[in-house]
Amino acid sequence: MLNIRYELTTTPKAKPEDESKLGFGKVFSDHMFIMNYKTGKGWHDARIVPFGNISLSPASMVLHYGQEIFEGMKAYRTADGDIQFFRPEENFKRLNVSAERLVIPELPVEDALQALHALVEVDKDWVPHNDGASLYIRPFIIAVDPFLGVRPGDEYMFIIILSPSGAYYSTGLNPVDIYVETNYVRAVRGGMGYTKTGGNYAASLAGQDEAHKQNYSQVLWLDGVERKYIEEVGAMNIMFIIDDEVVTPELQGSILPGITRKSVLELCRKWGMKVSERRISIQEISDAYDAGKLQEVFGTGTAAVISPVGHLKWGDKVMEINGGKIGEISQKIYDTMTGMQYGKLPDEMGWIEKL
Ligand SMILES: *Cc1c(COP(=O)(O)O)cnc(C)c1O
Repeated sequence: MLNIRYELTTTPKAKPEDESKLGFGKVFSDHMFIMNYKTGKGWHDARIVPFGNISLSPASMVLHYGQEIFEGMKAYRTADGDIQFFRPEENFKRLNVSAERLVIPELPVEDALQALHALVEVDKDWVPHNDGASLYIRPFIIAVDPFLGVRPGDEYMFIIILSPSGAYYSTGLNPVDIYVETNYVRAVRGGMGYTKTGGNYAASLAGQDEAHKQNYSQVLWLDGVERKYIEEVGAMNIMFIIDDEVVTPELQGSILPGITRKSVLELCRKWGMKVSERRISIQEISDAYDAGKLQEVFGTGTAAVISPVGHLKWGDKVMEINGGKIGEISQKIYDTMTGMQYGKLPDEMGWIEKL
């Protein structure tokens, strides 16, 4: 059990008046959670303090060598006014998987959950009310030793910040257009692809930038070695429905093990659908498309839950998926997952944790 010290703000900010204008990640709540780590001392000085700038030495290791990990999750408000989380312990287990890869000290999952509950309890009025809106939660750990040598840090900060965010879809599930990236790669096996660390995002920016210039919203990454096998999309895992089977790339070290991915697979299996996690080449997708067997394509991730793909471009070939419209299964998965998150459907999977 953490002994959390509370230093609450005396000047609370006004809550956003128009939740439809929130967007994503721009507005922050009144407080944040901070805890420090030092080798020999362990995690200490857990506190909830007013949200604000933090002071770091310009020599802080994270600023030079990127020793940083993060998580992304949400708190949802139900129609009854309850606040609930979706599988939060999965996020903190994954934070520890990332921590191990980046030689960051382990953070006990129960301590992280305690910090999460304590912070959201303090700022619960910041959980939006609008349908589809939520409180985005960003826990992260950074190495803060003032030292320019290359080695794992001895000093860290674990911080949680909260950002009320608007509905990802304001006008129904809009399919996105993506293309297969053949120039850049995001991660390779043996690298950090399976962790949530800033470096993976830094590596993806050039591809993302190019996609935007070409009016595509995201890129679909291929494996970094053979450049043949499908990996994932930006901040989403990818799934295909081929001949009534749900197919997604297996977890082999270079892709992020999404909690939405895992949940969607569990749901589809429960519904009795055929599900397979395996290597999928882009050629196979193209062939399935030509044979009329590629029924649906969608991304999965915390932000959008399900993001249907309308057009998938590979070289000169543009595949229009399901007439560019959201598919039946994508819609059903979306409705079921968000139904549970917002408390409109019973939590049959045991995924919901109340504040
Ligand atoms: C966070 C993330 C995902 C999605 O994971 P969820 O747990 O479903 O939100 C997928 N890919 C990458 C690269 C990510 O960072």
